Amino acid sequence: MSVATAARRALPTVTTVGGALTIEELLEATDLPDAVVLNAPDEYAERDWLVALRRDPRFSLKPLFIDRPVDHAGPSLADGDTHSTENLYRQVADIAEHCSTLSRDVLADPESRLLAFLYTRPGRLIAPQPDWRSEHLYRYPLLDAFEGSTASSSADWLTTLIRRRLLEPVALIDRIRACPDCQGGHFSYIDQCTNCSSIDISETIFLHCYCCGHVATQDSYLSGDGMRCPKCLTQLRHIGVDYDRALETYQCTSCTTRFAQPDIRARCLHCAKSHATIDLPERRIHSYRLSTSGALAARTGNVGDLFSLIDDLNYAHLSYFERTLDWQLDLHRRHKELEFGVVCIRLANLRELIDETSRTRAAQIVDAFALRLRELIRSTDLLTRSDEKHCWLFLPQTPPSGLAVLRSRIEALPALVRETGGATLEIGVRTFASSEMADGKMPATLLMSELRGALP
Ligand SMILES: [Zn+2]
Ligand SMILES: [Zn+2]
Ligand SMILES: [Zn+2]
Repeated sequence: MSVATAARRALPTVTTVGGALTIEELLEATDLPDAVVLNAPDEYAERDWLVALRRDPRFSLKPLFIDRPVDHAGPSLADGDTHSTENLYRQVADIAEHCSTLSRDVLADPESRLLAFLYTRPGRLIAPQPDWRSEHLYRYPLLDAFEGSTASSSADWLTTLIRRRLLEPVALIDRIRACPDCQGGHFSYIDQCTNCSSIDISETIFLHCYCCGHVATQDSYLSGDGMRCPKCLTQLRHIGVDYDRALETYQCTSCTTRFAQPDIRARCLHCAKSHATIDLPERRIHSYRLSTSGALAARTGNVGDLFSLIDDLNYAHLSYFERTLDWQLDLHRRHKELEFGVVCIRLANLRELIDETSRTRAAQIVDAFALRLRELIRSTDLLTRSDEKHCWLFLPQTPPSGLAVLRSRIEALPALVRETGGATLEIGVRTFASSEMADGKMPATLLMSELRGALP
């Protein structure tokens, strides 16, 4: 490609790989170009090169171009093609401008790089690609390239990105069935006997004698002089008058049961477990884009998304939570037998946790914490969050002893979700039992600010 032709202002430096420069040499280079053009011998090499570059933190956000048309709605990792030099320079400038608004530590870990990649390419989709070799039938090449390991963990990654509301679905691409045991998408379907589950079944025509009600295979009705019932020996002449076809058309060789519809079973080719086809949960395959909170996280390193994991519990709006608490405080003043508890949990070191590990790792730790917290609370308990650090639980019908037990279990959670030899989520817990209530009116907001203030 000629760089000289478009030389008007300070042009970006563009390096071409595939000619004099090999991909390995580019990856080793100390002086990085503004953009890279890939001149690969075939599409397999091109894909490998794109993956290698996107996986490298130094190249993950670089504008990459290939010498054939690129469909941005598709799963390509390239930014564009070399068809128009003017276009190419404009894209390089666009991406550079978006990159300049990113916070400095955006390249720290794969997740930050992925979010930054999407942020610097507005409208870019994470598109699924059908792949029979994938356990889940679809892969997301962009996720695979940034995540850099096996397909099953990038599926988990996608799930947490969605649960944290960093990505949002754009279009429904397909609906597939997944194995309830292993999530695999490959099945062998087989029909079997409704009585003994044998697969040794066959389809035949059964006739039903109107005279005596006998049902048998068509063959057994054939006699030398036409059709005769083998049981009552009546001559059968007219279908619909003397006899009819039976509804059942299958017979099991093992147990001789006749049936109209066999049971259809789907055997998972990954874990070998067998399920009725109606028991296979549906999985929806979407394309995704960066959400507004995803863009905020990319630009500023905002950690709000980690709380979405906790909000998935019995989340109530703060004002609703406060109103409920006010009501219960009033009720308790009249009816001392109505006991309840309030728990304040402070997540003390989220930012430090991200700095120490990575956003992905921190999300995993918070998610594991949220999952275990969910096991501890009942469906009637309420949860809310007042800010980036404090979560609240309202526990109706809970005596002080029950509250103390819950508190010690919550305090034990960080140790359970701790990385071996690594980072720990630090929490502080304060509780309030209705029996501790002083006389006189105490509004919920005051009670909550006292509890929060009592935390170290
Ligand atoms: Zn059978
Ligand atoms: Zn008969
Ligand atoms: Zn399975």
